Formats: sequence, C-alpha cells, structure tokens
Amino acid sequence: MNDAFDVAVVGAGTAGAAAAAFCAEQGMRVCLLERRPLEDAGARWINGVPAWAFERARLTLPQAPELRGRGQAFHMLAGYGPQRLRIEGHGVLELDMRRLVARLQQQARGHGTQLHGQTAVHSVSSEGLETSAGTVRARYVIDASGLSGARLLAQPRVDPLHLCAAAQELREITDTDGAAAWFAGHGVGMGETLCFTGIAGGYSILMLRADSPTELNLLSGTIPASGQPSGTALLQRVCQEHAWIGAKILGGRRAIPLRRPYDRLSDGQVALLGDAGCQVFSAHGSGIGIGLVAARLLADELAAGRGLTGYATRFQRELGGLLASVDLVRRFCQSLSAHEMGQLMAAGVVDPAMAGAALIQKHPQLQLARLPAKLAGLLGQPRVALRALKLGLQIGAARLLYRHYRPEDAGWSRLVAAVFGETSDGVATALGSSRVGAAPH
Ligand SMILES: Cc1cc2nc3c(=O)[nH]c(=O)nc-3n(C[C@H](O)[C@H](O)[C@H](O)COP(=O)(O)OP(=O)(O)OC[C@H]3O[C@@H](n4cnc5c(N)ncnc54)[C@H](O)[C@@H]3O)c2cc1C
Repeated sequence: MNDAFDVAVVGAGTAGAAAAAFCAEQGMRVCLLERRPLEDAGARWINGVPAWAFERARLTLPQAPELRGRGQAFHMLAGYGPQRLRIEGHGVLELDMRRLVARLQQQARGHGTQLHGQTAVHSVSSEGLETSAGTVRARYVIDASGLSGARLLAQPRVDPLHLCAAAQELREITDTDGAAAWFAGHGVGMGETLCFTGIAGGYSILMLRADSPTELNLLSGTIPASGQPSGTALLQRVCQEHAWIGAKILGGRRAIPLRRPYDRLSDGQVALLGDAGCQVFSAHGSGIGIGLVAARLLADELAAGRGLTGYATRFQRELGGLLASVDLVRRFCQSLSAHEMGQLMAAGVVDPAMAGAALIQKHPQLQLARLPAKLAGLLGQPRVALRALKLGLQIGAARLLYRHYRPEDAGWSRLVAAVFGETSDGVATALGSSRVGAAPH
C-alpha cells in the first residue's frame, strides 16, 4: 500500500465511500480502508433517503435497480390507531443500499482512490494509522467507521437511552390477496406505507409496505434501554402473526445513534463523519442522506484549504441546528404514550405538514395561519402543553446556538448541553431532563 496520502478514510459505508469519492474527485490522493470485504461494507438493506440529499451532495440521483421506488402515501398511526395522519407526495427515495454503497465505492475508485477491504484500523497516532495491514500515513484521517467502529477521536459512547435498535427486512408475500385484504383493512393500498408508532412505548415504530405483489418491506425500531422489546422482536412477532408473510429475501439489523452530532467533529488531523459522528436525523434514525451531504462539505472544505476545522464548523452551522432540533423532538416523542400522540394528532397539533417535513428531513414550515388552532389544541392537553412549550424554547435556543457554532469553545458546548439538560457532551444531569425514563405503554 502506498502510504503517503492526503486523506485516509476509515470505513467504506455510504459516508466513507462518498467522502473518498468526493475528495479524490477534487484531486486529493485518497485511500479507503474497510474492515469487512468491500462488497459487505455499510448498510445492506433497503433505506429511504430524500432526493434533496443527493442534490446537495452533488451526486447523481439513483436509478433502478438501485432506486426501488418513490414513497407513495404514508399512513402514520398513533399506536394501532384509530388516530392517523396521511402524508401524500413526500417522494422519499427507496434505495437498495447494497447498490448505492457499490456505486460510491466505484466512483471513488474511478477518481483514483485506493480501496482496501479486510483492513481494520486500530488506532491513530503521530506515526500514522495503525491497521491490520501496517501503518498508513495521511495528512487527514476521516473516521467514517460507524457507531461501533474505530472511535479515533475517543468520542464518548452513546448513552443506551439514545440508541435505536432497528431491523429491516424484505420478505416474500406468499398470498397477495391475503396481504391486500390486510392492508385494505387498515385503509392502506398496496405500495403505501403503514406505520404504527408508539406501539411498544414512545418512539417505537413498526412499518409495513407491499413494495410489489410479492415483496413486503418491514422496518422496526425501538429503544431497548427504556424497556422496549428490540426492533427485531417486533418484526419477528408480526411475521409470525400473519400467514401471508413468507421467507426473508434480504435485511439486517443494527443500533443507530440518535443523539445530536458530537460537539467536536474534528481534532487536529482527524475528523468524524456519518454515524461515527452521530450525524443522524434522529426522528427516524436516518443517517444516509445527512452522511452524504457531510461528505461533500468535508471534501469542499479540504479543497478550499480550510481543513477539518472548516468542515466541522460548516457542518454544525448548516446542519447541526436541524439535527439538534430533531433530537429534542425525538426525546420529547420518546416520553409520549401512543394515547398522548393520538391526542396531539386529533387536536391538529401534530399534522401531516409537520410529519411530512420530518419524513423528508427538513424543518417544518411555520404556518402562521394554523398557529391559533394548534395553540388551542395544545391548551386542551395541559399535561403535554407545558412540555411542548419547553420543547419550542429549546428548539429556538438550539437553532440559534448552532448558527454560531465555534469549534473548541467549551462555553458553546456548555450552553448546548444546558439546552439539552446535560452537564457535558452527552452526560445527563442529576435532574435527568434528557434521560428519558421507561416510556409509558
Ligand atoms: C435496520 C436499519 C434501517 C435503517 N433505515 C434507514 C433509512 O431508511 N434511511 C436512512 O437514512 N438511514 C437508515 N438507517 C441508518 C443508516 O443505515 C446509517 O445511518 C448509515 O448506514 C450510516 O452510514 P455510515 O457510512 O456512517 O456507517 P456504516 O454504514 O456503519 O459504515 C461504516 C463502515 O465502517 C467499517 N468499519 C468499522 N470499524 C472499522 C475499522 N476499525 N476499520 C475499518 N473499517 C471499519 C464497517 O465495517 C462499515 O462498513 C437504518 C439503519 C438500520 C440499522
């Protein structure tokens, strides 16, 4: 292995492969190191990614067979119903992640990146990167090795209360009429998404969609540390309960970090990217789109000569406020029962516009005309209203703080931690306002 690189990227999942491709495209000498065989790197299941992330990352939009479809109507139910929101025309792209990862790796290779599979990175020092294939020297090291990867910035471990256990499977539909009848019984057409929320405590979800007459797409996510069953357990249960659900075609499961991005995304020659930096839209544990955009910001900042501090600053100022706000909303939802969520839907406080914005990973637009009705709806839920008011103030403060992010400013970190009710980066206070207790069932 040539050991003199501008950039060494650790982890060849979507974030790492994209960063390698984008840096190499800008003329940097890049190597990409992956502990698994390259063809097994990253997410190996079906993911939903908003189109804007591809546009912002200046990546060609996916085509079939990588693109499996565009989201049709999305039915979000509080618990198993009856309260529901119907979100139309959100257009989230449904992707075969195995093909997207392969495309990004191919793009990196095409721009001259050296790719090395089955090469685990152990540590970084002034000597270089210590790997299972020897020492690699590079000016910049990008840790895109995921939640349980190399941890090259010794970042704190994510509190289990902010970890989602997710599982996704594509299964055979053995009886198309039986499946269609079951979906119709829930008022949902084939191809539309049925999403039960809060079924095993706040935040938990179970999502089903017939991608074709013969293929069922299943997704589940829970927070086991707050006493919920794992996403896999929810998924297995629903498969056992319905005779028309057949054998698994593909799928996977893993933990997703839900906390806001680490305050410190770079230090010296090392930076964090993707799940390794907790760059995840935590309302639904989505890290692909944000990771692609972060990879582009990283390459652009390096090419502009602003180094890794430039990347960290730009990421936090442009996207940190969005991710932090959504993390606050996620913590709030984690403390709601399905009944309370249903009440918020019934009162119009949570509406299709708000849920639709969350689906495509954007801030909801403030609709002034709807504000009086929403406030009236909230007043009808006094138990939730105070918490919602506090949430609004927290979001306002977080957005302001992230717009003025200053790297390595302990004062900034303390202020953000205070907004989250934490003493420092990720450590909850004794008052525990960020430690979400066992969610009510
Ligand atoms: C079931 C499930 C469903 C999901 N659905 C969605 C969705 O619909 N939309 C969405 O946006 N997100 C979704 N996510 C989240 C998404 O998959 C992750 O956010 C995303 O894969 C993170 O990408 P990454 O490149 O940062 O990390 P990873 O995909 O984890 O890739 C990291 C890579 O680094 C490698 N690595 C680790 N340690 C080392 C080391 N020491 N040396 C070298 N290599 C190393 C790993 O082998 C891996 O290939 C889902 C997650 C799960 C589990």
